[in-house]
Amino acid sequence: MRNYRMYINGKWVDALSGRTFATVNPSTGEELGRVPLAGKEDVDEAVKAANEALPGWSKMTQAERAKAILRFAALVKEHSNELIDLEVNEHGTPVMLARGFAAAAVDQLEYIASISRGIMGQVLPKSMPNTIGYLQRVPIGVCAVITPWNVPLMMMLSMVGPAIVTGNTCILKPASVNSVLGVKFTEILEKADLPKGVVNLVTGPGGSVGDALATHPGIDMIRFTGATDTGQVILKAASQTVKKCVMELGGNNPIIVCEDAEVEKAARLQAGRHYGNSAQNCSTPGRYYVHEKVYDKFVEVFVEEVKKIKVGLPWEESTTMGPMANLGQLERVEYFIKTAREEGARIVCGGARPTTPPLNQGYFLMPTVVADCKHDMTIVREEIFGPAAPILKFSSEEEAIRLANDSSYGLCAGVWTKDGSKALRITNELRVDSVFINMPRMMTPEFPWGGNVKGSGIGKSDSVCGMEEFTDLKFICTSYS
Ligand code: NDP
Repeated sequence: MRNYRMYINGKWVDALSGRTFATVNPSTGEELGRVPLAGKEDVDEAVKAANEALPGWSKMTQAERAKAILRFAALVKEHSNELIDLEVNEHGTPVMLARGFAAAAVDQLEYIASISRGIMGQVLPKSMPNTIGYLQRVPIGVCAVITPWNVPLMMMLSMVGPAIVTGNTCILKPASVNSVLGVKFTEILEKADLPKGVVNLVTGPGGSVGDALATHPGIDMIRFTGATDTGQVILKAASQTVKKCVMELGGNNPIIVCEDAEVEKAARLQAGRHYGNSAQNCSTPGRYYVHEKVYDKFVEVFVEEVKKIKVGLPWEESTTMGPMANLGQLERVEYFIKTAREEGARIVCGGARPTTPPLNQGYFLMPTVVADCKHDMTIVREEIFGPAAPILKFSSEEEAIRLANDSSYGLCAGVWTKDGSKALRITNELRVDSVFINMPRMMTPEFPWGGNVKGSGIGKSDSVCGMEEFTDLKFICTSYS
C-alpha cells in the first residue's frame, strides 16, 4: 500500500505531526493508501504559501491563466486512466461512468479556460459629464476549496478550476475518503507548471482541518460543497473573519408526474438515471409525486427499468451500479428503508444488501423502490443520498405544488406533462433553483447549478455564473476633463 503526501508551496510534504490515515476500497473494505493527517500547523503553512503566491498569480494576464488551465485539461486527458482507476477503486464508480466523468472533466476545464477570457468586467452607462465608471472583476484572494465525496474528480476540478483561472490562489481539502484521488488530482495539476503556492493540498478530517480553514484569518473565501448541516457549521466559523462563502448544499428534489404526462417515458428515463453513481448525487430525485390516475403504471414501468440495473464490482464493464462510497452512507440509507417499512410504505424491489460473494464484502445495496409513501414519512422528508426512490400519489395540481414546496431544501425539481402551459404554471410556483421539464437533470458546463433557495446553498456553481462567484466587482470611477 502506497503512502502519499500533501502539496504545499510547490513541495510534497508529510503532516508536521507525521500522522497518517488510510482510505478504503468500498467494494472490498480493504485499505487503498495512506495520506497525511494534517493539523492546524499544516493549514498555516498552506495559507502562508497561498498568500505569498497571490500577488504574482492575480497580476498575470487572463490569457496566461486560461492557458495554464488548458495545459491542465490536456494533462487530465493524458492521465485519465489513473484518475479513472482511483474513481473506481476509491469511490466505487462503475468504470463506464468513470470514463464519462473523466471526459466531462476535460470538457469542463476547456470551458472554464475559454469563458474566463470574456467575463472580467463591464463599463457602466454614463451618468455624469466627463466621467467614466466601470466594474472590474478582481479575484477574491485566497480560497479554501472543501469538496464532498460523492463525485470526487468532478467536484475538485469544477471548484479549483474557476478559483484559479480568475486569479485566486487556493487550498484544496478533499473529502477524507477520497484523499488519494485528491493527491492524484494535484500531482497532475503540478505538471501544468503553475507558480508554487497557487494550488496547495491538505488532507485530513473536516472537523479539524476543515475547521482550521474556515476560521483562518488568511483565507478570504470558502467554496464548499457538502451537507447542509456541515455548511451551517462552516458559515458560523467563517463569519468570525467575514469570509465570502459559496455553498452548494443538500437537496430533496421533487419530481411531479402529471396525469397527462408521457408516463412510460417519464418512468423509464427517471429510473434509468436515478441510480447512476449509486444515487449519490445532489440532483437525484428524493421524492416522486405521481398523479393517482397514472400512479400504478408509473410504478410498474419504473420497477421494470430498475430490474435491468446490473449491480456489480465497479471495474467490471457490465456493471451499471457499484457500491456506495462508504459504510456510514450505506447504513444511513438502510435506516431510511427500515423506517419506511415501519411507517407503512411498500418496498417493491431491493431494500437489502446483496448476500452472495463478492458483493457481500463491500458497501453494496440493491436498487430500491419504495411505493405508497406518505409525505410525512422520514424517507420522504430527509435527503436520502443513496439508491432508494420513494413514490407518492397526488390528486390535484395544487396539492403536487404544495407538497413539492414543503421541504427545507430547494435545489431542483422535475415536471412531466404534455401541457406546455401547465408545465410553466407549475414551474413558476416551485421554490427551487432549477427545473427540468419532461427530462431528467441535464448537466453541461454551460448550465449553472445551485443557487440561493432555502437550505440548498448560497451562490451558483458551474457556467459563467459559477465562475463570477470567485470574483469581486471593484467599482472604479474616473474624471477625464
Ligand atoms: P459533508 O458535509 O460531510 O463533507 C463535505 C466536506 O466537508 C468534506 O471534505 C468534509 O471533510 C468537510 N467537512 C466536514 N465537517 C467540516 C467542518 N466542520 N468544517 C469544514 N469542513 C468540514 O458532505 P458529504 O461529503 O457527505 O457529501 C454529501 C452531501 O453533499 C450531500 O448532502 C449532498 O447533497 C451534498 N452535495 C451537494 C451538491 C450541490 O451541488 N448542491 C453536490 C454534491 C453534494 P471529511 O471528508 O473529512 O469529513
